[in-house]
Amino acid sequence: LRDGELPIDELIATFSVDVPDFPEPGVLFRDLTPVFADAGAFRRVVDALTEPADVDPRAAALGGADGGPGFDVVAGIEARGFLLAAAVALDAGTGVLPVRKAGKLPREVVTADYALEYGSATLELHTDSIRPGQRVLLVDDVLATGGTLQAAIALVEQLGGVVTAVAVVVELLALGGRERIAPHPVHALWRV
Ligand code: AMP
Repeated sequence: LRDGELPIDELIATFSVDVPDFPEPGVLFRDLTPVFADAGAFRRVVDALTEPADVDPRAAALGGADGGPGFDVVAGIEARGFLLAAAVALDAGTGVLPVRKAGKLPREVVTADYALEYGSATLELHTDSIRPGQRVLLVDDVLATGGTLQAAIALVEQLGGVVTAVAVVVELLALGGRERIAPHPVHALWRV
């Protein structure tokens, strides 16, 4: 943190916009598009997502008791997770995988159904996108109930991949998402 820089949680709180009753009554939508639109804020967020040792791809190579599991590939969840995952992967020197909504991927897929804070949906991953034992960092913008990330974890694991970390910009504490996807560790930049 340089002099004059806001802590990352305050930065996200400052740039994001809370939208009541979107997309339906009772949901307080955390709109992060202004965070991503600002060059400095986007840089800070992308850097912070891979800050701790357990989401540092070099950690395993460094070894030692404090060395985390690292990752070999970054998977982003449609659609806002794509914005983050591609930037994180490019920075980390890994490839990036899109975890997509049903019917979007053109070849053979594995599928997982899940319930949302609002509605329900299906996620898919190309069957040949992960090799057994490959370490995956999962990235999304918001952790709410955890249903989405739970489904994404199930897809990675169906293919023999290992989810070594989950990174999100915002964690909505009241919805218990972290407990739902335990024991997978969640790295959240703004816990609110
Ligand atoms: P969940 O499966 O309940 O954890 O929901 C997470 C997914 O829904 C993420 O992909 C988010 O983009 C989106 N989402 C759920 N709730 C909100 C919210 N209150 N504000 C912004 N995005 C949300």
